[in-house]
Amino acid sequence: MKHLREELWFKTPHRRDYVNITEQVEGLVRKSGVRNGLCLVNAMHITASVYINDAEQGLIEDYDDWLEKLAPHEPVSHYRHNRTGEDNGDAHLKRQIMGREVVVAITDGELDFGPWEQVYYAEFDGRRKKRVLVKIIGE
Ligand code: ZN
Repeated sequence: MKHLREELWFKTPHRRDYVNITEQVEGLVRKSGVRNGLCLVNAMHITASVYINDAEQGLIEDYDDWLEKLAPHEPVSHYRHNRTGEDNGDAHLKRQIMGREVVVAITDGELDFGPWEQVYYAEFDGRRKKRVLVKIIGE
């Protein structure tokens, strides 16, 4: 069995950002040499997500509006978690609903996506260095 483990690092310019990482993940699949297997991609931080959906700017803005309605960043005093001195209570909740990881099948050396599927890194407490784990296994 072949395997590859790599970390992708991000420092997004805003508190919340949505980064299409599909090409980076595809590059790692090629580097792994795996023709048939599985590719796991997960956020290594509890205030960021990895998810799969459409690379359409309106949808990304819809996600952002929806998440801000569900768990607005302000007032930060609204969150018990922020009594620890942090201000990211909202980011933990946003991460939970957008998920921790995705797993994509690798078939004939390619990510075996459905129509319009793209892999995104979603940041909810950015402006600092954070990372994503990519683990590829197969043969
Ligand atoms: Zn926190």
